[in-house]
Amino acid sequence: MKVLEQMQSYGHERVAFHQDTKTGLKAVIAIHSTTLGNALGGTRRWAYASESDALHDVLRLSEGMTYKAAASGLAMGGAKSVIIMPNPGQQPTEAEARAMGRFVDTFAGKYIAAEDVGVSPQYCDWMALETKHVMGGNTVSHGGDPSPYTALGCFNSMKACLVHLGRKPEFSQLTVAIQGCGATGYRLAKLLRSAGAAVLVTDVHVPTMKRAVEELGCVALGNDKNLFEEKIDILAPCALGGMLDAKTIASLNCQIVCGTANNQLAHPSTDGETLAKRGILYSPDFVANAGGLIRLAGLYLGMSEAEIDQKIVDIEATTLDVLREANGGSTSTAAINYAKRRIAEGAASKQLVGAGKCGSGCGCH
Ligand code: NAD
Repeated sequence: MKVLEQMQSYGHERVAFHQDTKTGLKAVIAIHSTTLGNALGGTRRWAYASESDALHDVLRLSEGMTYKAAASGLAMGGAKSVIIMPNPGQQPTEAEARAMGRFVDTFAGKYIAAEDVGVSPQYCDWMALETKHVMGGNTVSHGGDPSPYTALGCFNSMKACLVHLGRKPEFSQLTVAIQGCGATGYRLAKLLRSAGAAVLVTDVHVPTMKRAVEELGCVALGNDKNLFEEKIDILAPCALGGMLDAKTIASLNCQIVCGTANNQLAHPSTDGETLAKRGILYSPDFVANAGGLIRLAGLYLGMSEAEIDQKIVDIEATTLDVLREANGGSTSTAAINYAKRRIAEGAASKQLVGAGKCGSGCGCH
């Protein structure tokens, strides 16, 4: 797996592996950066095909969290954790979650866990029985399910995409296709339906897709139709990552890609450019899906409800800034540069604050 080599290439500070003999828990916590502060990032529970797949996932996801926090103007670093399930049907248990909580606790607050795919507010509360460094539960920890905020932020990001294309931020004449109508996809569909959009949905879990059809009036795409070829205005990837690659991008028949999924580009260094060349406007995932992080990190940092809500509104302005900075090129690269600039500015101002306090060699005596 060459863990250290991969850490070097992504720029990670720390990656820790853990196994708990009693519960069978196998987990990895990856801290990408703490330059701007402690790092909050969800715990993903997934049956990975191999340990290297799990490592790849946690490294990419945690790097994305660093950029997400920085681009959102949060004084937080980036981290993520994954639990490697032995099989897809493995049910979550309190004992497993508590073992994960003890692992999280060894980071003494540098890493703060929360929900991701496969982890519920109940699971967060179970982890919180063992550590105070968890957000996203309803009883032992706090913050609750962040997905409504993620969906709202994504909706705001879609408005920015429309404005960037010289259109009104209105949805009544638009068709949006959503891949995956789980926690975030369903809520995004609800917002879009309320705004008058026609919404097509797919989900590998048929009852989840049916719920969006029956409760929200979405249209299910039949199995004979391909979401990536359908003529639509906006494609919203809201399932797992890596769905956009040279092949799927070549078949896209939409103007905008803007969804809640993390790591939408299979190969960020080339796929962003390919989308731009095809004239498809891509709202970078970590900008569009920052609402949930803003909610939980905002509560962790002691921000007021009004401040948190404003930051989620600001996702529209941040998206517009990034799209403009891309200047017709890769919006993914522009977003990474935008986030890196904020990290450098944050680090420089921390140094200045530190210089004032340090009392040595700083001229403050
Ligand atoms: P979820 O598990 O509730 O929903 C995902 C849905 O996608 C499920 O219903 C699943 O059946 C479906 N799915 C999986 N593979 C699919 C495929 N190939 N085609 C169609 N459907 C498929 O997860 P979620 O919380 O909605 O998260 C979705 C994505 O958004 C993830 O990438 C997650 O990391 C990201 N995200 C979530 C949040 C949040 O607040 N929950 C925040 C930021 C990013």
